[in-house]
Amino acid sequence: MKKFYITTAIDYVNDTIHLGHIFQKVVADVLARYRRIRLGDTNVFFLTGTDEYGQRVEKAAKEAGIPTKEFARKIAASDKVQQDSLNISYDKFIETTDDDHTKVAQEIWKRVEAGGDIYLGKYEGLYCEGCEAFYTEKDLTFGKCPFHPTLEVKRVTEENYFFKWSKYKDFLTDYLQKNPDFVVPEARRKEMLAFAKDIKDIPVSRTNFSWGIPVTEHPGHVMYVWFDALTNYLTGVGFLENPKLFEKFWPADAHILGKDNARWHVLLWPAILKSAGIELPKTILVNGFLSLNGQKMSKSIGNVIRPTEWVEKYGADAVRYYLLRYTTLTEDSDISEEKLIQAYNSDLANGLGNLVARVAKLCETNNVSEASNNFTISEEVASLISSYKLNEALGYIWCEISDTDKLINLQKPWTLEGEELQKTLKELILHIRQIAHDLQPFLPETSEKILQQFSGEIKSAPPLFPRI
Ligand SMILES: [Zn+2]
Repeated sequence: MKKFYITTAIDYVNDTIHLGHIFQKVVADVLARYRRIRLGDTNVFFLTGTDEYGQRVEKAAKEAGIPTKEFARKIAASDKVQQDSLNISYDKFIETTDDDHTKVAQEIWKRVEAGGDIYLGKYEGLYCEGCEAFYTEKDLTFGKCPFHPTLEVKRVTEENYFFKWSKYKDFLTDYLQKNPDFVVPEARRKEMLAFAKDIKDIPVSRTNFSWGIPVTEHPGHVMYVWFDALTNYLTGVGFLENPKLFEKFWPADAHILGKDNARWHVLLWPAILKSAGIELPKTILVNGFLSLNGQKMSKSIGNVIRPTEWVEKYGADAVRYYLLRYTTLTEDSDISEEKLIQAYNSDLANGLGNLVARVAKLCETNNVSEASNNFTISEEVASLISSYKLNEALGYIWCEISDTDKLINLQKPWTLEGEELQKTLKELILHIRQIAHDLQPFLPETSEKILQQFSGEIKSAPPLFPRI
């Protein structure tokens, strides 16, 4: 039996997620919906959630004057609202402050320590609070973290427990060389191979703050947030609590994450798993960043847009469409509300909406109905989704839309009569239904509306996308 287990990055709860974060969730959602069509609902598991420990969260809670856990849960609830607004069809929304997760993180620590891969040491070096990560001078760009150029990188001295990451250097290098599909895109795999050469042991416990999962064996130490966060992928499918579920879904088929998380997923996570004696995930899919009007979205710039703001104005499917069609998954892309409106009017209102209305009207006038229902996603679209070319898959569907429009103009059904007219309309219905099926993973609400409209007695309906 085939199964598919997909995860997204879990978001830090120092603030509610914005459009930049949701992009990856929409991508994961398309992949999960596609697999559900192929494999059946019960053979797909889609995990997302929030990363609730760490210094940055503790700090944000203090600033807000709210107890840390309460603060974390509050942001998690508002992240969920953002994800739900775009119909992200996750099976589980994990919060790392959940009790079952604490047990899993502690169990993995125990296994890694029992294997001789954890020792007490002293860390003196650089730390970026934005990344919650230790860096060396070499990692910095002009003395700043490449992902947080506005933050000061701190020099810290701490007694920590260390993970023998360096022990896995050769294993990781060899694994990356022998498994070209382990990292998508290829450029990231090469980048990670280069990073692998410089792997040094890394602190996995912290002592200068307390908002973390306690290390059972060593009172006073809490887990370094990455160590705990990565293990969420195990908790999500019941590593300790539900062995049956875990056996069915582990290893994960795809972890999707942003390029700032690549190193921890491609190099650290497999090392921890290897040390704990657990099978490695199959694919690490690294997505690019979205900028808005040429600028990074950030609180300090004041240009953050929450997904709900766009969804309220344009609808979930329009936002999903724009984010998926006019970006490249693995490269950085720039988005703007202006371009969204353009795409909405030309592709959705004129292109898809217009075609559907045109064919429905012809069918209504001529009393044509439709009974068949044996369709699925076309091979072309399936193969583009499988190779993560989501923008090209939508491009293909929009070619089908314009081809069907051309077919109507060529056949001029309004000049036909009797059997010839019926035959022509039936053929157009087949085209519409195929387009609706191909759209299912991308625009689930719209696809459902079209399929409803084109089964049984076909009638005109209000426009799918009223022009703006
Ligand atoms: Zn950083």
